[in-house]
Amino acid sequence: MPGQTDSASRRLLGRLRGALAEPGAGQERLDRITTIIAEQMGTDVCSIYLFRDADTLELCATEGLKSEAVHQTRLRVGEGLVGRVAKTAQPINTGNAPQERGFRYMPETGEEVLSSFLGVPIQRLGERLGVLVVQSREGRQYSEDEVYALEVVAMVLAEMTELGAFIGEGEALAALHQRPVMFQGTVGQEGVAVGHVWLHEPRVVVTNPIADDPEKELTRLREAVDRLRVTVDEMLSSAPLGDKDQLQVLEAYRMFANSRGWKRRMEEDIARGLSAEAAVEKEQSAARARMQTVPDAYLRERLHDLDDLSNRLLRILTGQGERTGAERPADPILIARNIGPGELLEYGRALKGIVLEEGSVGSHAAIVARAFAIPLVINAARITTEALNGDPILLDGEQGVVHLRPEETVAAAFRDKMAMQAKAQKRYAAIRREPAVSLCGQRIALTMNAGLMAELPSLDSSGAEGVGLFRTELQFLVRSKVPRRSELAALYARVMDAARGKRVAFRTLDIGSDKVLSYMKPQEEPNPALGWRAIRVGLDRPGMMRMQLQALIRAANGRPLTVMFPFIAQLDEFRAARDHLLHELDREERLGRVLPEKVEIGAMLETPSMAFAPRQFFEEADFISIGGNDLKQFFFAADRENERVRRRYDTLNVSFLTFLELIVRRCEETGTPLSFCGEDAGRPVEALCFAAIGFRALSMRPASIGPVKHLLRKSDLSEARAVIDAARATGAQSVRPAVMDWLRRRGE
Ligand code: PEP
Ligand code: MG
Repeated sequence: MPGQTDSASRRLLGRLRGALAEPGAGQERLDRITTIIAEQMGTDVCSIYLFRDADTLELCATEGLKSEAVHQTRLRVGEGLVGRVAKTAQPINTGNAPQERGFRYMPETGEEVLSSFLGVPIQRLGERLGVLVVQSREGRQYSEDEVYALEVVAMVLAEMTELGAFIGEGEALAALHQRPVMFQGTVGQEGVAVGHVWLHEPRVVVTNPIADDPEKELTRLREAVDRLRVTVDEMLSSAPLGDKDQLQVLEAYRMFANSRGWKRRMEEDIARGLSAEAAVEKEQSAARARMQTVPDAYLRERLHDLDDLSNRLLRILTGQGERTGAERPADPILIARNIGPGELLEYGRALKGIVLEEGSVGSHAAIVARAFAIPLVINAARITTEALNGDPILLDGEQGVVHLRPEETVAAAFRDKMAMQAKAQKRYAAIRREPAVSLCGQRIALTMNAGLMAELPSLDSSGAEGVGLFRTELQFLVRSKVPRRSELAALYARVMDAARGKRVAFRTLDIGSDKVLSYMKPQEEPNPALGWRAIRVGLDRPGMMRMQLQALIRAANGRPLTVMFPFIAQLDEFRAARDHLLHELDREERLGRVLPEKVEIGAMLETPSMAFAPRQFFEEADFISIGGNDLKQFFFAADRENERVRRRYDTLNVSFLTFLELIVRRCEETGTPLSFCGEDAGRPVEALCFAAIGFRALSMRPASIGPVKHLLRKSDLSEARAVIDAARATGAQSVRPAVMDWLRRRGE
């Protein structure tokens, strides 16, 4: 970097600093800034455009253009050169602006005689705030150093905007972090919540972007980086050796913390007049901008690491940490980029809702949120940048939609929706102790799905008749190492205690595919959902499964025990799994332990192959439970984790319903008890159709039991069956329209 330019940009920043320190209203400051930039860079014009709303930029201050145009000239994102800079977040530098693609002439500004144009985005950590422009009459191309200097100034402007330095003048300036914003994410856990934002990691605020003593800033940066290195080394030495993933992440941290390029770039920024904090944040902004465009997942992960590391460095430099003194609202809706299951368990039921910028449906955080029945929306892009602690927020977990700082009309509609739900809840509570008996007198057993101890209280509050599916892997997923047999036995015993004699169907470990244990070697598989998972792992590496079976037998301690094996795809797999259980029973007996009073051994039917299994499968299984989530994904060849396709095929599609009916018939032939425990069992219309084609047991989320029971109790199953058959006879693709129409006619 040429020293002269360094000092030039430092002089520019120095003058800006002085201007910002002087008292004055927001507009005055902006005006002063444009004057200084134009003077210092020797340009005829300098203008600041800021976002007025998500699509519109407004000219907020100018030196050189007509002052009448200020707050009058507006551009849409993508419109003209300024709009293009805003859209692409890339600078435009041209000596012949009128010839440039997308140039738009704005007569009210008097800019016709200007040839050269340099525009840079004003952005902070990936959040676009506006555009800073300089223009000149002569057709000059701005040098690389001039572009750099303007970018640095834009960054300082972004910082000041964030700090509210310009608030109070014009709508565009006041609007930042105050406008209503809607986020469309992905459903993680259904439910609706109204509350106030609680940031998991409050943003670090940089109050001193410009510094006048580069030597001092360099020393601060070096000391902070040294402290960071020590912290990372300590984290590395205390990380569990078996935890390969964690070690890998930390190694990557160490690599970055020692990266010369990273440090050098920050030092250069300091030499140009930025404070140490601003230099770190500039690097962080660049990493975030790249993160949004890099298609390679591995590289994106590394940019994430860099982002995390920058956060740590900023905390060291500013002394700001988790504790900012802000008080947690009474109705907190947690906003985070991502969150670990342990941290979420700590918040527990205190949260009204959760919104994550990242995450996946099968992530551990989602599992815990589901266990607590906390509405969760994931993939809400950029929400951590927009949301401020205490902002009002509405979360619609049914649609995956989040309204931040909502308008009153939206809030009112939401309140109506919640009131209706509360009314419905009252109706469900009234029938909590009643059985699910249809109008035609058919009784359907409704049980709940669970996986964590925290869910067991729902057994009573929901009116479930038992636990139809206990996903034992959740205990493994929320830990950082394999639980010991004694721990597991104690836990299963507590589950049985809490069930107070009601049946609990323990499903053995179902890992692989979307459920990856952090302490197990990750498998590189081209198609994990079709890969080495569930019972396949259990049979190939029986150690863990046998340990789990022993724990279950010990937990039962003389009580009845129900075990089912996941993902059975052929008869032999079921037989082999059952043999393991029988063997463990023998062994425990030889060790002198009390055996369960009765043992039921079932299979989950999750692959189409088992619908056509030999009759012996149906005879030998004590019961069968359909894992509809998996069965449906394999039936339609549509990945349940893939947003693009997961809702593409209707569960009430005639092909699937007819297929389910075949399974019902096969179970009837052998008298094998059958239940359905996928998510669809908890949807009232689906549940009604399942009951109509012969299912007598359904297992679902506790919150679904009320609505399902309510509908079943008001329905005649043979009538429903007739509607389904009639729809099938017409060649309909799905029976849903006909069933919905029938329900509507009956006033449901
Ligand atoms: C299913 O596949 O429907 C099921 C109940 O199991 P999981 O969702 O845990 O795979
Ligand atoms: Mg499954």
